[in-house]
Amino acid sequence: MTDLPQYLSPSSAAAFEGCPRRWRFKYVDRLPEPSGQAALVGSFAHRVLELLCELPNADRTLDAAKRLARDAWPEFEQDDDYATLDLDDDAARAFRWQAWLAVAGLWELEDPAAVDVVSTEQKVQTDLGPVPFVGIVDRVDRRDGKLVVSDYKSGTLPGSRWRADKIQQVMLYAAALHSSTGELPDRARLLYLGQRILDIRVTERRVEDAIEHLSGTWRRIGEACADEAFEPRTTVLCGWCPFLDRCPDGRAEIERRQRAGTLPAHAPAAIDLDIEVEVEVGTAARVA
Ligand code: SF4
Repeated sequence: MTDLPQYLSPSSAAAFEGCPRRWRFKYVDRLPEPSGQAALVGSFAHRVLELLCELPNADRTLDAAKRLARDAWPEFEQDDDYATLDLDDDAARAFRWQAWLAVAGLWELEDPAAVDVVSTEQKVQTDLGPVPFVGIVDRVDRRDGKLVVSDYKSGTLPGSRWRADKIQQVMLYAAALHSSTGELPDRARLLYLGQRILDIRVTERRVEDAIEHLSGTWRRIGEACADEAFEPRTTVLCGWCPFLDRCPDGRAEIERRQRAGTLPAHAPAAIDLDIEVEVEVGTAARVA
């Protein structure tokens, strides 16, 4: 029997729902999962915006953000995950530009000088129903006397089909703040930097739904741990799984997709398959 984790965070819950086997590799076996470039761009932008929001309101300018980014870069550059990317000069310049675009994207959404920031990167640890929850809230503001929970996103705004999971995550932060402070936030927001804000009213009903959903995940994690059964969930995302070499099911999925031509060409896990191409006189080439 595998021990249950002490806490469940929104990212851990999402990882389990994505693929229980991948979750086990990361959260039980503690195998390293290096952050990819997109995640690191987001980390750097988060850090700069955190520092920016610690400044007095009037000082939260684009110039101040540039200075903070310059000052924060040398330390970030030493990070092992960043070093793992092994970027040459041009790629490193492109990385910094991408991160800067994410930072500057905040001004396309709101004027940070006008925001009444209560906290940044606030750790919340509390029980949500049966779930020992932990999470880091990017920013908590006060607007018209009411609490607003905000989560920065540096990736592309997902299509409407995929937004529910993201909204669920920020609703959990609202639930955790409610549980730990007794005050129900008024709004939960996803700030897609440089794109748009998804702004959702927080209601008791939505908070309850989010907790119920999380409780279901927690129950399934408990069952998987008790039975030592962490099933693979093979999808196109296997193409980005860092544990592919430990997972025969994932590898079979990649091979199947490559043969079917349904694996995106930029998937890091693209395998050099030995695909036979039969060419018959007078017919088009076909892939065996
Ligand atoms: S390769 Fe796919 S099925 Fe295997 S652990 Fe990774 S995500 Fe899960």
